[in-house]
Amino acid sequence: MSKLSTTLIHHPYTPPATFAAPQPGVFKASTVFFADVAAMRARDWKTKAGYTYGLHGTPTTFTLEERLATLEGGTECLLVPSGLAAITLVAFAFLKTGDEVLIPDNAYGPNKALATGELANFGITHRLYDAMNPADLAAKLSHRTRLVWVEAAGSVTMEFPDLPALVDICRARGVMTALDNTWGAGLAFAPFDFNGTGQGVDISVHALTKYPSGGGDVLMGSVVTRDERLHRALKLTHMRMGFGAGVGDVETLLRSLPSIALRYAAHDRAARELAGWLNGCEEIAQVLHPALEDSPGHVHWRALCGATDLAAGLFSVVFDARFSTEQVDRFCDSLKLFRLGYSWGGPISLVVPYDIGLMRDASVARWPYKGTLVRFSVGLEDVDDLRADLQQALARM
Ligand SMILES: *Cc1c(COP(=O)(O)O)cnc(C)c1O
Repeated sequence: MSKLSTTLIHHPYTPPATFAAPQPGVFKASTVFFADVAAMRARDWKTKAGYTYGLHGTPTTFTLEERLATLEGGTECLLVPSGLAAITLVAFAFLKTGDEVLIPDNAYGPNKALATGELANFGITHRLYDAMNPADLAAKLSHRTRLVWVEAAGSVTMEFPDLPALVDICRARGVMTALDNTWGAGLAFAPFDFNGTGQGVDISVHALTKYPSGGGDVLMGSVVTRDERLHRALKLTHMRMGFGAGVGDVETLLRSLPSIALRYAAHDRAARELAGWLNGCEEIAQVLHPALEDSPGHVHWRALCGATDLAAGLFSVVFDARFSTEQVDRFCDSLKLFRLGYSWGGPISLVVPYDIGLMRDASVARWPYKGTLVRFSVGLEDVDDLRADLQQALARM
C-alpha cells in the first residue's frame, strides 16, 4: 500500500473528453508523459504531431497559435514571451555573421537597439532606410542583405509607407521581408495578401501585448508565416533559445482574443475623432494619423486599408514650435484620464512625449517638424470625456 504522499501524487485523473465550455481548457506542463520508451524515442518536437515538452507546446499554446495564424492569414505561428522577443527570434533564426539587416529609421526603437547592441556582436551589420522612399531601400539592398524589416504605420511618427512597393523591391531581389504588424493587428490589412493580390510579406511579427491582450497586463509576441520552410527554421531557433510563453498568459490571451475586432474598431473610432478635433486646435502644428488626409502616407494607408477602413487607436501630434518642452510636459502632466505610460492597446488612454531628434538618423531623412511630439494611445473611455481632458490640459499649458 502506497504512502499518502505517493497516493496524492498518483491520484487517478483522466482529462474530461465530454466537457464543453466557451473557453478552451488550460493545460500547464513542463513534463509531458510518453506512453512507452518507443513513443519517447520517436518524439517529434518540430511539428504539432504530438506533445514532447511544455516549452515546445501544449494543447493550450497550440490553440492560441492556430487562432493567431488565422487572425493574420498565415498558416504557422510561434508564441514568444514578448513582442521584442518575436523580433529577436526572427533575427536569430535567419541572420548569421556577415549578413546585413535593413530596418526603417521610423521602426519600433528596440528593433534598432537589438541590431546595434546585440547583432553587431555577432558580426551582423544593419542599415537604416527611409520607409517613405522605396528608392532608398532599393539603393541600400546589397548581396549581404538577408532580411528587410517593414512596419506600417511607423512607430511613434505614424508615417504610412507604400508597403506593397517595399515588399516588391525585396522580392525582386530575393530578400526576405518581415513585418512588425502590431499596428495593423491582422485587422487593418492582410499581411500575407495585400488587397487580395496574393502578395505580402514573408513573416509577420505581432506584439500581442497590445490589442490581442487588450488589458495592459500581459506581455507576449507571435511570429506568423505561411511558408513551412521559414516556420521550420523559426521553430528550431525557438526551441534552441527556450522562448516559450507562460501558459497563464496564454490563457489570458485566449480570453481576450475573441473581442479584438470590436475593441480595435472602438479604439480606432475614438482616436480618429480626437485626432480630427486636435487637427483644428491652434496649439497643434501637425496631427500624425494615417487616416487623416494631410498625414504622411495617407494615400498608402487608403490604398492598403481602404477596404477595411481601419487604423488602430494611435496617433501623434506635433505642437506648434512656440511651445517649449516644459509647456508640453505641463500639458502631459495636466492630463487626468490619459496616463503617462509606455505600450498601448489597453482600456486606459496613454500619452508619451518624444524627442524625435534623438530617435532618428538625420542622414536617412530629415525630420521636418520643429515642435515637440506627443503620442496618444486612445483607450476605451467615453470619447467626450477624453476630449474634455485634452481641452483642459491644453488650457493649462
Ligand atoms: C510594443 C511593441 C513591440 C514590442 O512588444 P513588447 O511585448 O512590449 O516587447 C514591438 N513592436 C511594436 C510596433 C510595438 O508597439
